[in-house]
Amino acid sequence: MAQTEKWIKSFEHFSRKITDEKSFLNELDSAIGDGDHGSNLTRGVAAVNEKLEQQSYDNLSDLFKDIGMVLVSKVGGASGPLYGSAFISMAKQSKESDDISSLLSSGLDGITKRGKAETGEKTMVDVWAPAVDALKDGTLDQSVIDSALESTKDMKATKGRASYLGDRSIGHIDPGAQSSAYFFESLLEAGVT
Ligand code: ADP
Ligand code: MG
Ligand code: MG
Repeated sequence: MAQTEKWIKSFEHFSRKITDEKSFLNELDSAIGDGDHGSNLTRGVAAVNEKLEQQSYDNLSDLFKDIGMVLVSKVGGASGPLYGSAFISMAKQSKESDDISSLLSSGLDGITKRGKAETGEKTMVDVWAPAVDALKDGTLDQSVIDSALESTKDMKATKGRASYLGDRSIGHIDPGAQSSAYFFESLLEAGVT
């Protein structure tokens, strides 16, 4: 299968998981944020799906650029610009290489440039960073994703809305880490990796 088809398949998996788990993602966000993470991303993936239906893609750069632009413009909240930046960064990188680890590594760069979070701050970066490391080593699997996600539970949030809670953010999974876990699971399922 061509790379573009695999990535579209992967986005379909992501889109389905986000939509199916909308309430769960909102619940996670209710505990440490404003309860809209599932709704925000569901709106975003629906808008992306609409765009992808109207268009056909013969290269990753155009595909990623469209996904990124739609996510930035259609998702209210922090997560839209962050996921959007990941895809826009990947659009640029895909002109150099379609290697999965270099693509996702630049996706992570896009997120950290935009959000300025480092690992350990209880954000999506705490799933993206270990997942990208594992991709580089060729060891990304479900257990890597699960333990990265779980690790956010004991962290104190120091970025984003959850940081307003200080110590009270401890003991909860980060919602953006959960949606990012779905993102990397989708890559595995679509065989992009
Ligand atoms: P909002 O907080 O604006 O309501 P969402 O609920 O959609 O936006 O997204 C919240 C998620 O965004 C958090 O769980 C966290 O993973 C992620 N996030 C917030 N700020 C940052 C940041 N500066 N860097 C990386 N991720 C962040
Ligand atoms: Mg929120
Ligand atoms: Mg919000």
